[in-house]
Order: sequence, then structure tokens, then C-alpha cells
Amino acid sequence: MGEFALIEEIRQRCNVPRPDVTLGIGDDAALLQPRAGNELAVSMDTLVAGVHFPATTAPFDLGWKALAVNLSDLAAMGAEPAWATLALTLPSPDADWLARFCEGFAALARAHELALVGGDTTRGPLSITLTVQGFVPRGAALRRDGARAGDRIVVSGHLGEAAAGLSLLLGTDAPRGLGDADREHLLQRLNRPHPRLALGLALRGIASAAIDISDGLHQDLGHIAARSGLAARIHADCLPRSDTLARAGDVLQCLRWQLAGGDDYELCCAVPPDRMAQALAAAARCGVPLTDIGAFEPGSQVRVIGRGGDEIAVGYGGWEHFSACT
Ligand code: ADP
Ligand code: MG
Repeated sequence: MGEFALIEEIRQRCNVPRPDVTLGIGDDAALLQPRAGNELAVSMDTLVAGVHFPATTAPFDLGWKALAVNLSDLAAMGAEPAWATLALTLPSPDADWLARFCEGFAALARAHELALVGGDTTRGPLSITLTVQGFVPRGAALRRDGARAGDRIVVSGHLGEAAAGLSLLLGTDAPRGLGDADREHLLQRLNRPHPRLALGLALRGIASAAIDISDGLHQDLGHIAARSGLAARIHADCLPRSDTLARAGDVLQCLRWQLAGGDDYELCCAVPPDRMAQALAAAARCGVPLTDIGAFEPGSQVRVIGRGGDEIAVGYGGWEHFSACT
């Protein structure tokens, strides 16, 4: 399978028609029609084998996840996805691998009417770089720098399940005694994240700031706090924990997964107190739980408050002070 057969395969398998694509894959550049009155939200993410995913990850899951992590960034901006370009570096041209990769990619692309309009294909260690572009009405994007002191901090869904899934996969901090359904659920959460696009759109005009949680709540919430010039105070007991996660580890282990685990792809937002009812109603319409976990206040850094009201010291780089909360 040569480079051009490979590109043709991608073109056919990932085809999602959109009226705003004048010219897609096949020419020197794609020709696209930006939407009037909108800004273009542009985001790029790279997945490298052995760094961002275990080498054993199924190609369907890679295609899905490469797109999901990018769409999650658009969700966090309150943007509606439109187009993507794909830079694919493959060790060898494996038709079967490519077919399954495209299947995973196309499944999510179709669900969100996203058109793959171009890319580049090269040989080398497996690496997937995707750029996505989406629309947001001018001035309406959810940014990291818009939080105000007093705003509530909310998160969507449940945290820590993907991290527990990774522990399961790698055999580290291995969750014990889990049934097959729980194990499958945690692995699905790791391999097939569902970007919160509908929620991102629904929170435009309601949330004052947003980020998607890809590197763990503690770190990502810290980005909103830093960009907004504020401190964030969250309560460990309030972090949304699924029943599955509760069965996978003790309270401390769960907290570690919830605060520092990666790959959640949930949204973390700042919401002014007088708009909380609107935010909850918007989330309910999207069928996504939204949990109030704390508030922004003057200062800097993220503070995690334990059950007794004391601060739990969480080092950015590690958890050496963590046992203080037992
Ligand atoms: P050029 O040599 O002009 O850069 P290429 O041969 O690299 O063109 O690509 C030919 C066409 O195929 C272009 O439209 C390009 O955007 C598209 N393409 C190449 N690789 C990919 C890919 N991995 N996914 C999607 N489109 C691709
Ligand atoms: Mg090229």
C-alpha cells in the first residue's frame, strides 16, 4: 500500500459531507467557507505511541481518541466543530490497521458532522497529530481568563475513571476485585472519551470561564485560576465519584485519580452564583451531571479542602504530602 493509496483509503473511509467544504482532500490545499459573524476556534493535539497511549491500544480506539481529545478542546471553548486535518506518521502501511483507525475516527466525526479536509502522511514511529477547527459566534467563546472571585467551580460527569482504567491496564495501583462490567466501563472511559460538545455550547453566555480536564483536575483548574488571576478552593468530598470508581479503590486512591489522573475530558467551568440555576438546567438538558465543587477567591493556586476543613497539601509534581489528609 503506497502513500497515495493510503490517502485515498482515508478519504473514502472518513468522508463526512459538509456544505461549507468547497474542496476537501486531494488538492494542494482545502478550500473552506468560514461562517459569517463567527470566530474560528483552532486547536491541535498530538498522540505519540508509548507516551500518550500504550502501544497495544486498538486502532479503532486510537482513531476515536485522537479526534475526541481535540473535540474536547473545542467543547471547552464553546465552539461547534466543523473541519479537521490529520498528520499521520506510520511505521508501515498496514491496510487493516488503517481501516480500523479510520472506523474509529469516522464514528466520532459523523456524530459531530466534522469533515476531514486534508492532512499529511509520513513514515516513522506511530504518531497522530490532529488539528480541528470550529465556529463560535464572535465574542462568545468560553476562555480560561474570564473567572471572577465568587464564581462557583463546576465539573461535568465523573472524574478519575479514565485514570483508574489506565491503572487497570498498566497494573499499577491495580483496582482489585472488580467485576467484568466495571473493568470494561473503566477501560471504555480511557479509550473512548465523549467530548462534552453539547454542554460547551449550552454553557455559552452562562459560564465565565472553562477548560477541559485532560491532565487532571488539580492542574487544569490551576490554569483557569492562573489565567484569571485568582485562587481556586475545592472540596475533596464534593468531587463527583462514580459507583464504579468507588468500587475500584479506597477513598485516598479515588481522590488521587480524581485530582491528578489524566484523560477525563470533562469540562471544568466558572459560573457566577446567580447563573448556577441556568447552568444546572443547561447541563440537565444535555443529560450531563454538573457538580458544584467549590469557588474562586482572591489569591493564587488551587486549594483542596478535606473533610475536616483542613487543606490537603497537593504538590504539583507529586503527592508526597498527600497522606496528611488521612
Ligand atoms: P502535497 O504533496 O501537495 O502536500 P500530499 O500528497 O501530501 O500533497 O497530499 C495529497 C492530498 O491528500 C492533500 O489534499 C492532503 O491534504 C491530503 N492528505 C494527505 N495525507 C492525509 C491524511 N493523513 N489525512 C487526510 N488527508 C490527507
Ligand atoms: Mg504533503
